[in-house]
Amino acid sequence: MLTASSDAAETVLEAHVWSVPMRTRFRGIDVRDGVLVHGPAGWGEFSPFWDYDVAESRRWWSSAYESAVLGWPDPVRASVPVNVTVPAVGPERAHEIVTASGCRTAKVKVAEPGQTPAEDIARVEAVRDALGPGGAIRVDANAAWDVDTAVARLRELDRVGLEYAEQPCPTLEDLAQLRRRIDVRIAADEVVRRAVDPRRVALAEAADVVVLKVQPLGGVRAALEVAEAHGLPCVVSSALESSVGIAAGVALAAALPELPFACGLATVALFTADVASEPLLPVDGALPVVRPVPDRLADTVADADTERRWRERLAAVLAR
Ligand SMILES: [Mg+2]
Repeated sequence: MLTASSDAAETVLEAHVWSVPMRTRFRGIDVRDGVLVHGPAGWGEFSPFWDYDVAESRRWWSSAYESAVLGWPDPVRASVPVNVTVPAVGPERAHEIVTASGCRTAKVKVAEPGQTPAEDIARVEAVRDALGPGGAIRVDANAAWDVDTAVARLRELDRVGLEYAEQPCPTLEDLAQLRRRIDVRIAADEVVRRAVDPRRVALAEAADVVVLKVQPLGGVRAALEVAEAHGLPCVVSSALESSVGIAAGVALAAALPELPFACGLATVALFTADVASEPLLPVDGALPVVRPVPDRLADTVADADTERRWRERLAAVLAR
């Protein structure tokens, strides 16, 4: 048990560390882990990636606290369309992943370190083949390209027809320059969620779409404020959470006034196991607006060292 302080009240939360191997290396990680906390409003997840420091992890804690203690705003829809996420795998595997998902939209990782542009093209072409002409394809380069490289790569990749390109370049200035040079829509991800104040990033020239992630933005309410501040179409994506954390993303997607694009919340499929016996996986390309109970914690137990490191991390974020 641990004691979590907030401005309003002091609440005792039960905490469980979880750890799950990934099916394929993704975002440079092979194992995903985090802490689940239980409070009066239900279960919440605190799982900042290991390269996030204490200061940046505080927003992730605010999200877990909101889920466990404060609860979420009311939904305005009962299901959330989602994309299948395709890691930097070969074309045959990419085709299989898309076909098995039942989703009509795919988000394809590109610009993976150590891979060639030809590998990206082969993967995206395989995804187009699997989806057919009616499906939507978006690519995510995780800020890997400079502007000239992004222009060249996106022109090539857009031969299969891209819905948008997520954060092709690192900075706001890069994205604005790129956006003037290509016809593909640009979605802003890192440049928003890693900003000191994500509401005040000047996106007008730089992006057509905003990617919202609940934990990095500090919770459902905080993310709704970011959406309102920018007035652009929003896509809700995960930070590779368990079904408990994904439920917070679903709550955000369900509460947004408009949801023109499929959301990146089908990522439990990237794990070999989940904390819930009824994981948040898509059926016919959509997730229901539900809150899975983590009744499979015994299947996702972390080793003693991981357990200790997470408890230290949580204590550091809670320390004032
Ligand atoms: Mg992204």
